[in-house]
Amino acid sequence: MKEYKCKYCGEVFEKPLLLARHVRSTHKRAKTREKKAVAIGKESEQINRTIEAIGILKGLQVSPNLSAEEKKILGDVLTRIEELLTYTLKSK
Ligand SMILES: [Zn+2]
Repeated sequence: MKEYKCKYCGEVFEKPLLLARHVRSTHKRAKTREKKAVAIGKESEQINRTIEAIGILKGLQVSPNLSAEEKKILGDVLTRIEELLTYTLKSK
């Protein structure tokens, strides 16, 4: 008799329909959760990098080599990035 083995956990079923139902109820949801976890990981990595970039820009802003105008431009860029970051964190 032919057996239908689950490729995720190795459980054996008599009918393909039973296997399909098992995969759907047991493994599909887990897969979605996994994908979501990966997405969240990527997002927090990007947020960390953005915070790092803000730190770098703030360091540049107090540099004595910059003109007042350049400092103002840097300040504007900083504000924009910080607003974007705030918006991203709020929308979660
Ligand atoms: Zn299984």
